[in-house]
Amino acid sequence: MQTVLAWYDAHARDLPWRRPGTTPWEVLVSEVMSQQTPVARVVPAWREWMRRWPGPTELARAPIAEVLRVWGRLGYPRRALRLIECARSVVEQHDGVLPDDLDALLALPGVGEYTAGAVLAFAHGRRALVLDTNVRRVLARAVAGQALPAPSLNRTERERALHLLPDDDSTAAHWSVAVMELGALVCTAREPNCGVCPWEVSCAWLAAGRPADVHAGRRRTQAWRGTDRQARGLIMARLREVADGQPVEAGELKACAARAGLSGTGGAPDPDQPGRALTTLLTDGLIATDDDGATYRLP
Ligand code: SF4
Repeated sequence: MQTVLAWYDAHARDLPWRRPGTTPWEVLVSEVMSQQTPVARVVPAWREWMRRWPGPTELARAPIAEVLRVWGRLGYPRRALRLIECARSVVEQHDGVLPDDLDALLALPGVGEYTAGAVLAFAHGRRALVLDTNVRRVLARAVAGQALPAPSLNRTERERALHLLPDDDSTAAHWSVAVMELGALVCTAREPNCGVCPWEVSCAWLAAGRPADVHAGRRRTQAWRGTDRQARGLIMARLREVADGQPVEAGELKACAARAGLSGTGGAPDPDQPGRALTTLLTDGLIATDDDGATYRLP
C-alpha cells in the first residue's frame, strides 16, 4: 500500500479540483463531468462552469440553455440537466449546502454510489468506497488477476475494494485517489505500463502471465460513429451555435443529424434516425419546441 501512496504523491496530476480550498460542490461537479469525458476536456469546462455558477444556489437559477452551452462538447448532456436538478434539491432541501452524509447524497438527483463516495473521500477526506472504471480495472488486475473487471459492478468487487480500504479516514481517502490515478495514468485499459507501476512486484495479473479478458464476449462496445448519440450531438451542436432562444427549423436540424448516418460504417443510413434524435432530445428535456415541432431551440 505504501508504494502506491508514495507513487501518487510523486506523480499525481495537478487537477484544479484537487487543490486546497476546493468545495464539496466543486468536487461533485468535477466528478459528474469526468465520469464519461476525458480530463483534458473537463478542466476548461469545469473552470468556466465554476466561474459562472460557483455553488448550487447559482446553478439552481441558471438558464438551462446557457448551462447546455457551457456543457458544450463534454457529451451526454443529460448530466448537465441532472446537475441543475441536483443544485435545486440542495437549495430546497439543504439550504444550499451539499450534505456530507452518504444517504442524503444518494437521495440527490444524479448522485449515485460512485459520486457520493467520491465527494465523501475527496472533499471530506473520509473512508468511502470509490469505485470508478479506473479503480475497478486496477483492482481486477492487481488483486484478482483478471485483465478487466466484469461488465457491471458486483458484490465481490465491492467486498474486495472494502477489504483493501485502509481503516482510518485520511489514509483511506489518500488510497482511493491514488488507485484511481494509477488507473488513469499507468494501469490503463489498453496499454498498462507495468514497468513503472508501484504494484508490479505483487500484481496478480502480471504474475499469471497477463491472461485474456474472460468477459470479452459480454462487453458492449462503445461505438459512436453512425449512432443516435452522434446524431443527437450534431443537433445539440447546431442549437448551441445560435443566439439565445433562437429557433432552428426542424429540416435544418434533421439535415445536421443525417450526417451521423452518413459517417457510420454499418451500411445504409437509417432514414428514421434524424427524426428519432429530435424526438428523444425533446423527451429528455434537452431541446424545446414552440410550434409543435416545426422549429426547435435550447430550453
Ligand atoms: S503491474 Fe501492470 S497490470 Fe498490474 S496494476 Fe500495475 S500496471 Fe496494472
